[in-house]
Amino acid sequence: MAIQQKLSLMIPGPTPVPEKVLQALGKHPIGHRSKEFQDIVESTSKNLQWLHQTQNDVLTITGSGTAAMEAGIINTLSKGDKVICGENGKFGERWVKVAKEFGLEVIKIESKWGTPLNPEEFKKVLEEDKQKEIKAVILTHSETSTGVINDLEKISTYIRAHKTALSIIDCVTSLGACNVPVDQWQLDIVASGSQKGYMIPPGLSFISMSKKAWEAAEKSNLPKFYLNLKSYKKSLSSNSNPYTPAVNLVFALDESLKMMREEGLVNIFLRHNKHKLAMSNAMKTLNLELFADEKYLSPAITAIKTGEMDAEEFRKTIKNKFDILLAGGQDHLKGKIFRVGHLGYVNDRDIITVISAISNTLLNLGKINPQDAGEALLVASRYLEGK
Ligand SMILES: *Cc1c(COP(=O)(O)O)cnc(C)c1O
Repeated sequence: MAIQQKLSLMIPGPTPVPEKVLQALGKHPIGHRSKEFQDIVESTSKNLQWLHQTQNDVLTITGSGTAAMEAGIINTLSKGDKVICGENGKFGERWVKVAKEFGLEVIKIESKWGTPLNPEEFKKVLEEDKQKEIKAVILTHSETSTGVINDLEKISTYIRAHKTALSIIDCVTSLGACNVPVDQWQLDIVASGSQKGYMIPPGLSFISMSKKAWEAAEKSNLPKFYLNLKSYKKSLSSNSNPYTPAVNLVFALDESLKMMREEGLVNIFLRHNKHKLAMSNAMKTLNLELFADEKYLSPAITAIKTGEMDAEEFRKTIKNKFDILLAGGQDHLKGKIFRVGHLGYVNDRDIITVISAISNTLLNLGKINPQDAGEALLVASRYLEGK
């Protein structure tokens, strides 16, 4: 019987929230125009720049990750603009829909779900655009629906070479999990959301805007009011917000960013990387096939094929028996894969526990023998110890 209060979230958002952050959420709200609140905004905005490795403005929006991506699109582009959208999963698909909804002309660069986008295709389309008609390249760094990480570093060099096109990047499950050096890669617009690597509940999203992005904002004619980023920029100069922000989520953000600073960027990236390696290699030891191309595994999430087994039944068993919530497959992948989120507030114990729960379930189904289960833990331990 499940003990709901102990349910362990191993989905790619919402992710587990540290005690300290929960306590910050439980405080009485304060006035959002008070000096006290401005001090908190000053602190979060500095720490957000640290997390993004940038001098650019990083704005906080009350809304989920999609709000930040939509804001990036409608603040910098105009009706009829030509854009490239990278699509190799559910989120890539979403950005195509958003772009079309706002009357943009979309050139799709696609790759089969589970495989990465090919940077050379971006290079080709951008190089052929002699008239500089392409105004933006929109893509997802870590494709949460498939567990694939796209080669953003490479693709961003081709976007820069084009000179005109802006990069509008969904870094919702990569920021706070792996290296996203915004200034070094000269990323123009980077969107993320609170319920992922930030270790706080859903409700806030973040958007980093380069100088070039602000220049484009001067020319953009798509309608916007609540998501007009110029208002956010103006308010931020006095550590304030244009509208009432989710005050308690900002308290939480302040705590979580301080925790992240204490751990340090490199340690955060190393932790996510070893969890990715431990998970993926343990799954292979259990004779389960990874869904994503092994050279492009996301540090945030591992997608696993279940073959003959119904992935939904498998997830249900693990939830009922072990109080661990795993994510299912989306769209045509429903029932065919399950996904283990290892993003944010996740430690080695969580990884060992989820691997044990998966092994135990496979053992009960007669899919593996006890030796395999032991071997999987051994393999995972080796990666967790960094061997
Ligand atoms: C979670 C997620 C989002 C944001 O979705 P919201 O539900 O709007 O927060 C966007 N992109 C990716 C890759 C995600 O994983």
